[in-house]
Amino acid sequence: MPMMTVTPIPALRDNYIWAMHSEGHAVVVDPGVAEPVVRWLDDEGLQLAGILITHHHGDHTGGMPELKQRYRVPVVGPAGGHIRGIDRHVGEGDRVVPAPGFPEYTVLEVPGHTLDHIAYYAPGHLFCGDTLFSAGCGRLFEGNAEQLHQSLAKFAALPGPTRVYAAHEYTVANLEFARSVLPGDEKIEKALANALKIRENVNPTLPSSVARERDINVFLRTEETVVRAAAEKHAGGKLETGVAVLAALRHWKDEF
Ligand SMILES: [Zn+2]
Repeated sequence: MPMMTVTPIPALRDNYIWAMHSEGHAVVVDPGVAEPVVRWLDDEGLQLAGILITHHHGDHTGGMPELKQRYRVPVVGPAGGHIRGIDRHVGEGDRVVPAPGFPEYTVLEVPGHTLDHIAYYAPGHLFCGDTLFSAGCGRLFEGNAEQLHQSLAKFAALPGPTRVYAAHEYTVANLEFARSVLPGDEKIEKALANALKIRENVNPTLPSSVARERDINVFLRTEETVVRAAAEKHAGGKLETGVAVLAALRHWKDEF
């Protein structure tokens, strides 16, 4: 397999359109807008070869029709048929080679943020859209806490070195929330100081890694006694399950 590089193309307010490229060709994930992708391809002298979509939200799909028409490339995305322009609809366990010469990705169904949300995993790489962020997770717009809990567990079970290409730069705000859940947690404190420093120069704090998220992401740590205790204190009652802890944390974060 030739060397593949993954680059964030900043778009809209705080989105990253992740672009993987190898030997003159590029594949983009969730192009919410077309213009920054076109400019980046021109600057880098790359040819667009494919598009992957994780879920139906406009800031992940808005630029897809224009890119598809301009470069005549295939689009892979979630089943359901409600995103116009998808050529291949995929679901749990499907294998996807987005373009010749690119790695084979396994599709994970990860409902919660939306019901159609999927992620793309290949050894070393996870494109997780809005389901997992560094130190956070997506809002529950369509799914429930039980679905999100299961989706996050799929990510947490991936190998530690897997790079996490989340679709938004929310790291600092997420770590500030994490710090109020677990004041004095050394790894969270350190991650926050580090993220603030990176953002001073407007650099991306991503990708993260699965190992790092297991340490600093309270939404992946719902089975830990300290996290449960903090969620119970805030919710003002007993939380018997990891799902209940996740629901309480998500609710807390929504109001944070
Ligand atoms: Zn979304």
